[in-house]
Amino acid sequence: MWNVEEFVRAAGVTVDELAAYVDGSQRGVPPVLGRRPPREVAERLGLARWIRDGGMTEEGYREFLRAYLAEGTRQHHPGYLGHQIAAPDFPAALADFVHGAANNPMAIYEMGASAATVESEVLRWMLGRAGFGETGGGVLTHGGSLANLTALLAARAAAAPDAWTDGVPGDLALLAPASAHYSLTRAAAVLGLGERAVVPLDADGLGRIDVTRLPDALERVRRAGRRPMALVANACATATGLYDDLRGVGEFCAAHGVWFHVDGAHGASALLSPAHRHLLDGVELADSLIWDAHKMLRTSGPAAAVLTRREGDLDAAFRQRASYLFYGEPGLDLIGRTVECSKAELGLKIFLNLAWRGERGLGEYVARQYATAHRFWELARERPGFACPYEPESNIVCFRYGDGDQAALRERLTEEGAFHLTSAEIGGVRHLRMTVMAPATDDGTLKALLDRIPDLADRSGG
Ligand SMILES: *Cc1c(COP(=O)(O)O)cnc(C)c1O
Repeated sequence: MWNVEEFVRAAGVTVDELAAYVDGSQRGVPPVLGRRPPREVAERLGLARWIRDGGMTEEGYREFLRAYLAEGTRQHHPGYLGHQIAAPDFPAALADFVHGAANNPMAIYEMGASAATVESEVLRWMLGRAGFGETGGGVLTHGGSLANLTALLAARAAAAPDAWTDGVPGDLALLAPASAHYSLTRAAAVLGLGERAVVPLDADGLGRIDVTRLPDALERVRRAGRRPMALVANACATATGLYDDLRGVGEFCAAHGVWFHVDGAHGASALLSPAHRHLLDGVELADSLIWDAHKMLRTSGPAAAVLTRREGDLDAAFRQRASYLFYGEPGLDLIGRTVECSKAELGLKIFLNLAWRGERGLGEYVARQYATAHRFWELARERPGFACPYEPESNIVCFRYGDGDQAALRERLTEEGAFHLTSAEIGGVRHLRMTVMAPATDDGTLKALLDRIPDLADRSGG
């Protein structure tokens, strides 16, 4: 049994240490991320000793937690411009804490009536924002990759209803731009289509679907004796943060009876910002949409929604029955819609952020991050040596400095510890890539980065 007093003390330690950690991160205490090799980290944290001897108490725990946080990555740091992972807001963090103790894993309604109800209501809200309204269906999954797999499973069930029982026909094709997230190609392989069934769509120099070339693509697929199972558009693309023309693609798909899947893992949250909603114009034409909360809705990962325009499509995705679990009422139990059996209380994280900040607050966060990225582009363009291949549409920006090795430049920047960037290839050319996730990132951060990059590049002849 829990010693409840011990729990209260340990929880207090957790709150103290996390508060200091986030406060320090927001103020820019370096380094942004720990880079020690695993052996040294294990040593510093005393992992082998704790595993062997146990016996952790409040004081040992405090020391451990402090070191654990210090050796990790600081998402709330203004210089954290790396991966598309949220700097979680605290209401969502509280939800994780609640889940950790209450553990209502939501496979079926009776495992957690409140958790399941919260999930359903959050989904209803998301369906409304996507324009799927009353007819739509949804489910929360552990992340966008699983969400893409689930959406494509629904698409497969629509194209080949017997695939679940009889196996996958060999003529299905998935049409997607090369800029689509790798999880889509992976899903095609997992679903039994095979990677070769993924037909690349013609795109412009920045990887955006060329809508005028869609008829040719469809013709190519049909000539090759294949049937399109689904066509994928990015909202937005992972590497560039640019949105495909959803209305153009959606109208084409509707006219030709092709399942239209929108990967909004990162960018669907722009639906909450009145100034940016136009980027998703046409999303209501999609047959399926995925939307990550742990990117731009500021929850911890992973938490994603699969949304379909027709609820029945999602119920058709999985055709299985298990006598020990599947006896509840359809509509109450969402287990029939997920790869997962047990699930974390994903809805609660999204709900508490909504409840605390309001839809408007979340929308303002998105707007602010998108504006900060745009501001970086404005500033970088004015500086000699910086090249920006496009005007950013989201909080993701790609750029180059000089003609040297951009990967090496990124490495030196990361080593210094004040900034963390990623990199991506555009048209085969390596670029530095930043994603503005932390609310602490401001103009001062951007200017400091723009000052630092030329110094580092010059010093090493890059
Ligand atoms: C991040 C991302 C994914 C994958 O989502 P995870 O939650 O990391 O599994 C899929 N598609 C796009 C466009 C993404 O940006």
